[in-house]
Amino acid sequence: LFRTEFMFLDRDQAPSFDDQLADYTEMMRPFAGRKVVARVLDAGADKPLPFLNDADEPNPALGMRGIRILREREPLLRDQLRALHEAAEATGVELWVMAPMVSTPSEAAWFYELAHSVGIPHVGAMIEVPGAALQASHVLDACDFASLGTNDLSQYLFAADRLNGGLADLLDAWQPALWQITKIAADAGAASGKPIGMCGEACGDPLLALLAVGAGVQSLSMALPRVPLVRASLARHTVAECEEMLEAVLAANSPTAARRAVHSLVHPELKQVL
Ligand code: PEP
Ligand code: MG
Repeated sequence: LFRTEFMFLDRDQAPSFDDQLADYTEMMRPFAGRKVVARVLDAGADKPLPFLNDADEPNPALGMRGIRILREREPLLRDQLRALHEAAEATGVELWVMAPMVSTPSEAAWFYELAHSVGIPHVGAMIEVPGAALQASHVLDACDFASLGTNDLSQYLFAADRLNGGLADLLDAWQPALWQITKIAADAGAASGKPIGMCGEACGDPLLALLAVGAGVQSLSMALPRVPLVRASLARHTVAECEEMLEAVLAANSPTAARRAVHSLVHPELKQVL
């Protein structure tokens, strides 16, 4: 996941098309011939921007953020999409672009139309709002791929502010309900034949990554330092074992019970490093 917010933070106005093109080109150059999944600007809530967000919005996490604000500022989104597309063409990158905070299939369809109109070949939706997860088959009908954002999906599933450390128990990625809703979305992905990935923090955990595989998630995005342990974990388990772990989590009634059930099924070599 290439989060593009870095281009927009700490500014009092949006970066120009030319500025964006220069920066995206520099960032994509090392990925020539490979795939890059970029997320368009996710402003609002935990990532407010002075030139886009209303500082007096009473409940920003439930208000104007992600695709909601981009729909109101279509020229800004169009510029970003054009800059991403031109940077990919210039560097030989296979560009996939997705929208944050999609809540409905019609939002996904709107984004798909716009991104295709500027020439982007792979257009997707992030699934991080429970309504979008429940409607994942229709969301996928409206675009090319989807990616589960477990950070926000947890926040909205449990009505628990992700910035509030006092709510960490609700935001625990071992919550069985998070995996129930993940499974619903991943099943929709499998039925549609379209790719569904995961890009929240959860899948950078060597055990939670196994659950994602067990649910049928096909690609995992994580911070670079997490890769070796997740890779080691995946290499030591079959898909059938991952599915068994997921079943155990879906049957659990708490994060503690879920974690315990998975630990009992983990390969002994992995237990030594956890
Ligand atoms: C997420 O919500 O899981 C996600 C990947 O995006 P961010 O953390 O940037 O909101
Ligand atoms: Mg998010």
